[in-house]
Amino acid sequence: MVGGGQLARMTHEAGIPLGIRFKLLSDTPQDSAAQVVSDVVIGDYRDLDTLRDFARGCDVITFDHEHVPTEHLRALEADGIPVRPGPDALVHAQDKGVMRAKLDAIGIPCPRHRIVSDPQDVAAFAAEGLPEGELERGGHEVPSGKGGGGRRAGGFPVVLKTVRGGYDGKGVWVVDNVEEAAEPFRAGVPVLAEEKVDYVRELAANVVRSPHGQAVAYPVVESQQVNGVCDTVIAPAPDLDETLALKAEELALTIAKELDVVGHLAVELFQTRDGRILVNELAMRPHNSGHWTQDGAITSQFANHVRAVLDLPLGDPRPRAPWTVMVNVLGGDYPDMYSAYLHCMARDPRLKIHMYGKDVKPGRKVGHVNTYGDDLDDVLERARHAAGYLRGTITE
Ligand code: ADP
Repeated sequence: MVGGGQLARMTHEAGIPLGIRFKLLSDTPQDSAAQVVSDVVIGDYRDLDTLRDFARGCDVITFDHEHVPTEHLRALEADGIPVRPGPDALVHAQDKGVMRAKLDAIGIPCPRHRIVSDPQDVAAFAAEGLPEGELERGGHEVPSGKGGGGRRAGGFPVVLKTVRGGYDGKGVWVVDNVEEAAEPFRAGVPVLAEEKVDYVRELAANVVRSPHGQAVAYPVVESQQVNGVCDTVIAPAPDLDETLALKAEELALTIAKELDVVGHLAVELFQTRDGRILVNELAMRPHNSGHWTQDGAITSQFANHVRAVLDLPLGDPRPRAPWTVMVNVLGGDYPDMYSAYLHCMARDPRLKIHMYGKDVKPGRKVGHVNTYGDDLDDVLERARHAAGYLRGTITE
């Protein structure tokens, strides 16, 4: 696996019972996975020679992030190394412009979007979304029922995204006017403009697909973000209309097939106020919205990712309990989180703690907790309490 973060650490863990030899390319020996994997190469994934040396002797290469340059992946494939997911699939998780163009081509609903060249072009994009006659009003207060069935698809604010290199909300700007639209262009990377979707919540449809074309779908989850970072995941998404849930699962399976994804695919979705589902973005690796599966599903996303990249039959994705909640543990003011275990474990024997071995820095994702049960309010309370107590924001 290329990349030494927590996703690699947990994928390694899932491979242990299968007796799989796991080799890691990590930036530093301190990285989350490098601490626990015995066969570690320290090196830069952006360097082709390093990748080639690393890949020698591997049966298959997979990733804990999407940042390996596409051309390097093609070079590894040309050397005869199976790369899963392959570069032609992975490029859709690397480049939001390529992703949007492909989803348009296969008829998957997305926010209105296009590549923009400068701040003036952003203003033009904003105006293009306005119903006729609304231009002079600046796009604000489009009355319900006009243009796009009551939603405001045009005018400012506009969401701008650098097509490559963003994560956890970095590389995403919400701009209210031409002046603010200047900032994203400073990086010198192409910029994608999107309508600001009026969504009620964010969902994720997670699926896993093998080279044989077998695919499984996990229940659609609700994913709650705080400051652009995933905070809480509820499985399954509460009160989600069954038709909409099925539609989301089908949409994710279609994307996996059409893009020839191998391994875990997370499709981040917006559920709009008017009852539609739009794709926000794709991740082709285990994903934060699937961490609940470690303790809440019959087969975890990590185990199924391992099975998929090795082209083994996939495991059952169904939930073990009516509700599972995952809450991320962010670094707080206490550098030592371990003293909190006593309280957390004693309070909730069903609590599962997953820490990544990272140094605690304020706001940094250092672990997550999963808990499950029959009553959603109770499960949510237990998960939030544990995460808050570990972080130090709850003290009793
Ligand atoms: P990242 O690559 O950082 O994960 P995303 O494209 O997922 O970036 O955007 C980060 C967050 O910004 C999303 O979770 C969502 O809350 C918000 N966002 C992104 N695109 C839109 C949009 N078109 N409309 C409204 N909110 C958006």
